[in-house]
Amino acid sequence: MSDYKVVRTFHPVGQGGFYSERHNNFNIVYDCGAIPVSDAKPVVQAAFSKTEDIDVLFISHFDYDHVSAISTLQKNVRNIKQVVLPLLDEGHKNLLININRALSQNIIKLISNPQLFFGKNTDIIYVRPADNERKFSEENTENERFYDLRETPFYKDKESGRIEVDSGSVLSFGGIFRWVFVPYNYLNKVRSSQLINELSKAKFNVRLLTSDSFFSLKNITTPSKRRALKQVYSRIDGNVNENSMLVYSGPEKVNEDCCLCDECYDDCSFHRYFFHKAGCIYTGDCDLNKVNLGAIYSNFILNIGIVQIPHHGSKHNFFFNSLRQFWPDVTCPVSFGTKNKHGHPSAQVINELSQHGFRPLLINEKSDSEFVQNIQIWSKEAKRIQRKVGSF
Ligand SMILES: [Zn+2]
Ligand SMILES: [Zn+2]
Repeated sequence: MSDYKVVRTFHPVGQGGFYSERHNNFNIVYDCGAIPVSDAKPVVQAAFSKTEDIDVLFISHFDYDHVSAISTLQKNVRNIKQVVLPLLDEGHKNLLININRALSQNIIKLISNPQLFFGKNTDIIYVRPADNERKFSEENTENERFYDLRETPFYKDKESGRIEVDSGSVLSFGGIFRWVFVPYNYLNKVRSSQLINELSKAKFNVRLLTSDSFFSLKNITTPSKRRALKQVYSRIDGNVNENSMLVYSGPEKVNEDCCLCDECYDDCSFHRYFFHKAGCIYTGDCDLNKVNLGAIYSNFILNIGIVQIPHHGSKHNFFFNSLRQFWPDVTCPVSFGTKNKHGHPSAQVINELSQHGFRPLLINEKSDSEFVQNIQIWSKEAKRIQRKVGSF
């Protein structure tokens, strides 16, 4: 029997994100962290074992709450084979390094040199930013870019050894039917400029913060300066739109003669329905005012049964029109910590989802808030056998 199974889990880590999918023969993770990191550590340790690999780790963005437990994950599995992350420009990268150093958040190596952080047995795939979704979806239908993740060495740049792909590229492991991952790195210029404004108002030297990655080592050393920076940063984190890489994970196409439907039997439409709804969009902390999920993932609309609500249900990042097209029967997990100080999730967001017939699902640090989705797709052969057996 060659049926296909996916177990998708929204883990209860509190204020952060840790989502995983176990497929027949590969494992993926999207984001891995929380504030405090102690809420995430035991959950991450329990999710995988030392004899397992993570085939792909997707990182939405480099805020501490989404990456703080990656080193725990790394220690608790055999290998993380591939990491897919947003490509940052130098200025943004330097700023993140300086801020994280000043806040003593131990993720500088991850930001400054992912290859060094993960080691030589991991391939790093950078997703180039896109800032115009209309242009993107038009280009995309004409010129889809496919990457077989089993052949990554093939895509490495000969000189730099780097792998870069465009937003909207289709990544897949092949197989009897194609399960695909489609990352989209939206470049949010507003967030960076607001952060920069706030920093200069608080009299930090923005030019050096964005050009010299060691600036904070020499210049932001006193506790009061650190406190000032922390204040700016947490103000931004709670209220300002985010930069965050989206990923669609699901069946490649809604295909009328897919393996489930060409030999109809009574409950065919039921199976077909769940097959088509097996897709999920992971959104990290993206800003729905800036990205129209329906437009970006227009090729997959009928496949999508899960949309993660971004930024822990913050009202600042929510705009219902962005996901209107996915109705009906869409479940919307919201990850947050019950002790967060930002008021996440916003009651307004939860109400708006419910009123439009979406199902919000609250996931926090309590273990019984975990959400596990079991997806099973029958192959033609397995179905034929089942039908024969059933007819006796
Ligand atoms: Zn964030
Ligand atoms: Zn976050």
